[in-house]
Amino acid sequence: MSQANSAHAKPELVRRQVNLFDLQRQKARLGAEIEARIDRVLDHGQFILGPEVSALEEDLAAFAGVKHAIGVSSGRDALIMALMAMDVGAGDAVFVPAFTFSATAGSVASVGATPVFVDVREDTFNMDADDLARAMERIKKEGKLTPKVVMPVDLYGLPADYQAINRVAEAYGVRVIADAAQSYGGEAGNTRVGAMAPLSATSFYPTKPLGCYGDGGAIFAADDDLAEAVRQIRHHGRAGDGDEALRLGMTGRLDTIQAAVLQVKLAAFEQELGARRRLASMYTERLTGKTSLPFIPQDHDSAYALYTVRVKNRDGVRAKLQEDGIGTGLFYRIPLHRHPAFAQWVGEGERHPVSEALAEDVLSLPIHADLTDDELEYVVERFLAAIA
Ligand SMILES: *Cc1c(COP(=O)(O)O)cnc(C)c1O
Repeated sequence: MSQANSAHAKPELVRRQVNLFDLQRQKARLGAEIEARIDRVLDHGQFILGPEVSALEEDLAAFAGVKHAIGVSSGRDALIMALMAMDVGAGDAVFVPAFTFSATAGSVASVGATPVFVDVREDTFNMDADDLARAMERIKKEGKLTPKVVMPVDLYGLPADYQAINRVAEAYGVRVIADAAQSYGGEAGNTRVGAMAPLSATSFYPTKPLGCYGDGGAIFAADDDLAEAVRQIRHHGRAGDGDEALRLGMTGRLDTIQAAVLQVKLAAFEQELGARRRLASMYTERLTGKTSLPFIPQDHDSAYALYTVRVKNRDGVRAKLQEDGIGTGLFYRIPLHRHPAFAQWVGEGERHPVSEALAEDVLSLPIHADLTDDELEYVVERFLAAIA
């Protein structure tokens, strides 16, 4: 430090650039290994369902502690194929949270079923089991749709309250599909994401906790028959090498090249997860009492796909941070029942007050395995200045 920067002089703010995500730093760590693995695929030439896909599937299943993992083309396709495997279609009601990415409800509409919106909890931002019970009761009374599936979302990486949701689902004879697109690596009790529902769908979109270099996803299942159904559906409804379409399917496979990328990233995943959790606890320590922070229920742990706070004047705070070189995320500005694409499934005057409030004030701060402590301190300092 120079003399001029002594105790009396106000230290000048050094502007830094801190991105919400930083895949280039991850590439600096893992890039050489990834390139070597891709090269091997180019050499053996089995681009569809090559050996890397089944090897990855075994590792994904072992990490999650569930019998089957099936590599698929994207998170949204994973949801669609999970619904197809459970024979969900026209006349069926699928219950989804009103505060999530649009693909959750979009997948339901894609199979011809009806998305029914359920509000989320103020503390966890995840599906409210009490509101789910109310929605089930309403659909049953109306008598037009068959309650078929509930699709909780593990928002920002935190597993939903599956215990409470399962109780409601069982009472109404409805099955559960977890939209775990953001939460691979999350846990509750001794159970990891992938093992919390009969079918769980995750995404390997590049900026998800475990991401590939393109589109990809996986479905997790404990049940052999459900897993076999998904394997057939992702491969034109065919079984193994058979040429007979046994059921309706799609082109839903994970590419071998993406599986090769994911093998390297999965080997580093536990360490990255630990790094994100450590950064999250630093944020929590520095920001407690200053703003509304992520709530993690006892026995739960988030994969911290995002670290999301609630702030007044969110858009103003976001613009100030942008000026300071800090990239933030806005997930989600619009609750599902306000998207034009879903208007036909929204009742007159239908409201989901918690989802609507969250859409006004959530803001995600930078969190990724290569974020340094210095950078986090800079984000905290500028964030506190911005909300002052
Ligand atoms: C990302 C995401 C999806 C879709 O995943 P893609 O791989 O982009 O198709 C679905 N649901 C949620 C909650 C997501 O965050």
